[in-house]
Amino acid sequence: MGETRAGARAGHLSQQQAAALWESLVANSPDIITVHDERGRVVYASPSALRFFGQAAEGRPALRDIFQVIHEDDRPRVMKEVERMRDPSVRMAGPVTFRIRVASGEWRWVESTACNLLSDKRVGAFLVTSRDVTDVVVGQDKLRQSELRYEALVEHSPLAVLVVAEGSITYANPAAARLLGFQYPEQLQGMELAGFVDSEDRARIKALLGSEDPGPHAGPVPARFVSIGGRTLDTETSVIPIPGTGLKQVLVRDVTEEMRARAALEYQAMHDSLTGLPNKALFMDRLAQAISRAQRFGGHIVVMLADIDRFKLINDTYSHSVGDRILLAVAERIKQSFRPTDTVARFGGDEFVVLCEDTEEMPNIGAFGERLLRIMSRPVIADGSMFHVEMSVGITESRGFNRTPDDLLKEADSALARAKEKGRGRYEIFDEETGRAVAHRMQVESELRQALQYGELRVFYQPVVDITTGEVHGLEALVRWQHPRRGLVGPMEFIPVAEETGLIMPLGRYVLREALAQLKQWEQLELPHRPIVMSVNLSGRQLLSGQFLEEARALLEEFSPDPALSRIELEVTESVIMADRPEVSEVMASLRELGIGIVIDDFGTGYSSFSYLKRFPVQMLKIDKSFVSGLRLGSDDEAIISAIIQLARVLGIDVVAEGVETLSQLLHLRNLGCRLVQGFYFSRPEPSGEVEKLIKRKFNVPAVKV
Ligand code: C2E
Ligand code: CA
Ligand code: CA
Repeated sequence: MGETRAGARAGHLSQQQAAALWESLVANSPDIITVHDERGRVVYASPSALRFFGQAAEGRPALRDIFQVIHEDDRPRVMKEVERMRDPSVRMAGPVTFRIRVASGEWRWVESTACNLLSDKRVGAFLVTSRDVTDVVVGQDKLRQSELRYEALVEHSPLAVLVVAEGSITYANPAAARLLGFQYPEQLQGMELAGFVDSEDRARIKALLGSEDPGPHAGPVPARFVSIGGRTLDTETSVIPIPGTGLKQVLVRDVTEEMRARAALEYQAMHDSLTGLPNKALFMDRLAQAISRAQRFGGHIVVMLADIDRFKLINDTYSHSVGDRILLAVAERIKQSFRPTDTVARFGGDEFVVLCEDTEEMPNIGAFGERLLRIMSRPVIADGSMFHVEMSVGITESRGFNRTPDDLLKEADSALARAKEKGRGRYEIFDEETGRAVAHRMQVESELRQALQYGELRVFYQPVVDITTGEVHGLEALVRWQHPRRGLVGPMEFIPVAEETGLIMPLGRYVLREALAQLKQWEQLELPHRPIVMSVNLSGRQLLSGQFLEEARALLEEFSPDPALSRIELEVTESVIMADRPEVSEVMASLRELGIGIVIDDFGTGYSSFSYLKRFPVQMLKIDKSFVSGLRLGSDDEAIISAIIQLARVLGIDVVAEGVETLSQLLHLRNLGCRLVQGFYFSRPEPSGEVEKLIKRKFNVPAVKV
């Protein structure tokens, strides 16, 4: 036998050889070998033991008493084994696993076996072999702990967890039992899971349970479950295979309440709370769908915007509950008078919208408007009173160029605005021409905004000439737009839009500042005639803004024009003065105090009453060019100009004739006693550089014939 032969061979070794062999075995063994005397003290430690426990001096263990380093909790177990060894008939003890504090100070797990060789005269000691098993012990411990954790997690999870083998339930946690209407999880064991799935979703869940690898999209999938009590539950269900077992873990999350809450929120977000009608968001969505249907299948859409006339008055005069009653009645009546497939919505306030869709052309869309007006012919009863409610309606229909919901709504809105302008209680149908005009205006607005931002505006100046001397009396600042594509654009194309949109405020500020800066610069020039007057046009909106006075004051402070060299005038139209607002005369008086003159522009075109000239501190009148262009001997225009000049003379006000283009006009005006003249005859409005040349010299004026 091998063992005997090996032993026999060892028997042939010399004592020296045997000792060397032993030493080399021990030295190379990963095992920790210690030899203890009969009292347990360490008398020998192998090299790996020395590494483990540390060494005091070369080859001498630092440690005599092994018990000092055994973990307190493990000591009794080790003691028991040691006690067992006291019996001489017991030769082997262990293995016992315990913790030891090693030289580095950390705790390691060791597994030790002891051999009692006391009776062997050659040894007379205990031989202890130990192995470091820390990694094994800790690993097992971790695994066990994670198992425990998983169990606790699943048992207490609010998520329903089931384990299914070939379709039937082998494990269910308490949450799964609760979800499916059972008292104990064990009741579910052996039942078929698919039996709890709503018939519509059953096939899908079965497929997931059946497939070996449900793939990355195995869940969560929406699935409806039905509990044993018949309750329907909305869930999100995931099926996860447990590898190598053929088992499937099924996680079921009950989302019934969540879905209900979400549905309620969605409804709320899409409907008006007072009338229950769709709100703007929902309406716009339906309109977008209708448009794409119409584009795909050919069809026709009509959008109506209805607004209760003077609703605010009713609401403010009576209680809000009266207002609400009226809104409810109107909502109900509109709904009743359209098909259920049409959408009637409320946009908040007193605005209602109707969307009608048809595959056929709707030839008489006016009939829709009439229908809306007719339903309001019966009074509404609220709080015991009768209210005659009227509506204004704007209507539009789908056409080639209005492609978006916004387009259609804007068109209906502009038609509605026209219905109101024309006296309310009526409907108006949007027409393309107005539509194009509106679109154009919007484009100008957005471009003008950019023009202001990117500094595309310029100021030109046109001289006002004193025809008795040929000297330049002053200049009118006139704005231009250096358009990136269209070139130089005149103010008639954008001032009206600027006025409507309020952009006139920054625009006006820009022109005034520019003109003042220019005026200040021209103060340096040697001019034949002083002071020179700078006229700047002022829109009514600017004047009434409430900030204008402050702005003007700030600009004057910034540039501080020298009154001996230059003067500033603001040109306003008669309509501003006639607006009959007390602020106007206040602002004007304050401007006068700042040394700024007031000029009435386009004089004679607005009002027949000139009595205001006495009440306002007016410096100058500009006779409108329409009178000048019609100026002929014996004409009405001649009579009017003559009357204006005389009136002004009586009131001590200067006069400028505008739009003078010909020599004959010039001579005619001079005969009527007009001294100041502005017009293409002398110069068109020009950039400052050109104008500078003009103001340095005199214009040629025809000599007065005696
Ligand atoms: P306006 O204040 O009546 O300005 C005089 C207009 O008559 C100018 O037109 C000028 O070029 C034009 N004009 C001058 N002489 C003649 C002539 O001999 N024949 C003819 N046919 N026209 C002549 P423009 O520059 O196109 O300005 C038009 C209007 O735009 C101005 O009328 C004014 O109401 C407004 N505007 C111009 N600049 C501004 C501004 O800075 N602010 C405001 N609020 N309005 C401005
Ligand atoms: Ca003017
Ligand atoms: Ca004018």
